[in-house]
Amino acid sequence: MAILRFHALKASLNRKTVHIEETGKRSELFGTNVFNKNTMLQYLTQDAFKSVMSAIEDGKKINRTIADQVASSMKDWALSKGVTHYTHWFQPLTGATAEKHDAFFETLENGSAIEKFGGSQLVQQEPDASSFPSGGIRNTFEARGYTAWDPTSPAFIYETTLCIPTIFVAYTGEALDYKTPLLRALQAVDSAAADVCKYFDKTVKKVTSSMGWEQEYFLVDKDLVACRPDILLTGRTLLGHSPAKGQQLDDHYFGAIPNRALNFMRDLEHQCMLLGIPAKTRHNEVAPNQFEIAPIYEEANLAVDHNSLLMDVMGRVASKHDFAVLLHEKPFANINGSGKHNNWSLSTDTGVNLLKPGKTPMSSLQFLTFFVNTIKAVYENEELLRAAIASASNDHRLGANEAPPAIISVFIGAQLTKVLEDLEGVTKGKLSPKEKTDLKLNVVGKIPDVLLDNTDRNRTSPFAFTGNKFEFRAVGSMANCGNPLTVLNTIVAKQLKAFKVEVDTLVEGKSFKKDEAIFNVLREYIKASKDILFEGNGYGEAWEKEAKKRGLSNNKTTPEALKVRLHKSTIKLFEEMKVMSKVEVEARYEVEMEAYIKHIQIESRVLGDIARNHIVPTAVRYQNVLIENVKGLKEIFDKDYKTLGKEQMNLIRSISGHIDGINSNVTKMIEAHTVANTIADITEKAEAYSDNVKPFFEAIRAHCDALELLVDDELWPLTKYRELLFIR
Ligand code: ADP
Ligand code: MG
Repeated sequence: MAILRFHALKASLNRKTVHIEETGKRSELFGTNVFNKNTMLQYLTQDAFKSVMSAIEDGKKINRTIADQVASSMKDWALSKGVTHYTHWFQPLTGATAEKHDAFFETLENGSAIEKFGGSQLVQQEPDASSFPSGGIRNTFEARGYTAWDPTSPAFIYETTLCIPTIFVAYTGEALDYKTPLLRALQAVDSAAADVCKYFDKTVKKVTSSMGWEQEYFLVDKDLVACRPDILLTGRTLLGHSPAKGQQLDDHYFGAIPNRALNFMRDLEHQCMLLGIPAKTRHNEVAPNQFEIAPIYEEANLAVDHNSLLMDVMGRVASKHDFAVLLHEKPFANINGSGKHNNWSLSTDTGVNLLKPGKTPMSSLQFLTFFVNTIKAVYENEELLRAAIASASNDHRLGANEAPPAIISVFIGAQLTKVLEDLEGVTKGKLSPKEKTDLKLNVVGKIPDVLLDNTDRNRTSPFAFTGNKFEFRAVGSMANCGNPLTVLNTIVAKQLKAFKVEVDTLVEGKSFKKDEAIFNVLREYIKASKDILFEGNGYGEAWEKEAKKRGLSNNKTTPEALKVRLHKSTIKLFEEMKVMSKVEVEARYEVEMEAYIKHIQIESRVLGDIARNHIVPTAVRYQNVLIENVKGLKEIFDKDYKTLGKEQMNLIRSISGHIDGINSNVTKMIEAHTVANTIADITEKAEAYSDNVKPFFEAIRAHCDALELLVDDELWPLTKYRELLFIR
């Protein structure tokens, strides 16, 4: 009803500033609601503290007595902060976070009550998990799964609940979440990378994967969103004509942040500080109403938890400010969508970032080793990386001339390209002492200098080296980063293991010196994986052609992209790296395909409903006004009405055409939908939705958007782009 739209507009114009709690220095607030090292030192006995630390650092098990002590201290700490409940907090394959709150409160036989929280409740819980996606791992009769404490990610308090980060697994041991495979992948990369590090520094014991995400999002007034069933139900607009002014003036990017949005950000950052999320940067993004928040990078598992937590907190803080936060990758057509860059690196327990060129030739050779191995890993597994970012919502963004294409390539900049070219020219086999010195001093040794003034940036690359880290830019804004990071760390682990074997073989078999062997293997890798390197415009059509020639995959839709997940080589890779079993890989494929199908299914229902039940009746109403008008003209002017009412009659005709266009396309879409639903095979069903149902979205939308321009603004029921997109 158009009346709703007018009330919403009025409400959004009359917003008052929400009071924000922002007291004290951020450094003092930071982590105050986290059971971190500092808090543990205060609350835990020395034994318990040591035990938890060795669980965090070396993955050692925590025994029952200690778990009881930790639980009791956590409870004391939480109670001192007014907490009443606790929850195991986990990340099921729905992509959202899950929690089931239990009170500490328990009654005693004598009728009184106490607060209780023991080791067994801390360590393991059994949520009623039958409704989480499992890809058939848990049959309904064995619908049990359990959550288990992950001590590497500290417990935190949100509002009045103590949240304990946990993994979520089936009773038979299979992972049902994003965290479990990630932890396994982190272990794989730790062990493989630490082994390779020993070529350069024997004291390295542990390698940690680090991640810094950059979260993009849209803010839209809550009431304006309430007049958009499409946003409410699908997270994006399924129709809506572009506003006269969009992002063409580039006046929003890095511009002054509107007050209402700034207030939201300050509030959000305040929550981040309390929760120990090291939020650091905030700014406007390219599209109107689009913003970004980025933290200081952290250990990968913690970073993923923090990003999942942030997405949840954002929604809650937004609603306090009468905003809805849209995390969808493409909430509005013809306006940039949102992504989530995952900045990724590896660093040692000796404090060295392995993707940062060092000051000495030897440390630079170490850098090159990790650099080239990563490139080779990406080259050999580009399709798998593409699959790791596949979702119905991200399909809209990839390759839409605003985000990296669906083709995975690596950008390294002109200087490093030159270094790799020089290395490629190294003589095969043993090196003369002069060659070796030359190589070390003039090629490898020069890297830090070159990089110092390397301001080279290519924003169109999906996987770019940015000085001391790789930036995986094709990740969707709504995605759980656990999935792409699991794949990335797994493929790099596998590659580093292969590298170690090759170097060792050369050293043992041909009595090469270690550095000679490394040079030789790297040279072959550079030659072999050249095709993944691309410095040009990733958005251009020319690249699509070139990439095809190079044999790189270009899977534009999720069903196409996910297929590689079932390849024998994929299953072998995950099994070998002990990241996922065959059953787990297949289950995930099923869960993701299922999610894709459901997404398109819901969108097609919502679009059909809006088009037929909101747009067509509105158009008919306006058409009746025009018809009445023409009839009136005829009554007054007799034959002259044809000239006087010409435009009205044209409008009546156009409106009829669009109504017909909507109805016939919705009918065909429903038919395609019905056929798709009869398909049992999940891959074929997803393809049917992608190929036969989805194409109607555009056609239906075109007619609706045309009507938006024809029909009286007063009658239009949905808030328009121009209203949604400019915060007042
Ligand atoms: P931008 O990409 O917007 O230019 P920066 O390059 O400064 O911004 O950093 C982007 C993100 O990269 C930040 O979240 C930062 O913490 C993260 N980052 C920096 N160093 C590393 C690293 N070694 N590992 C992982 N992430 C990192
Ligand atoms: Mg970035």
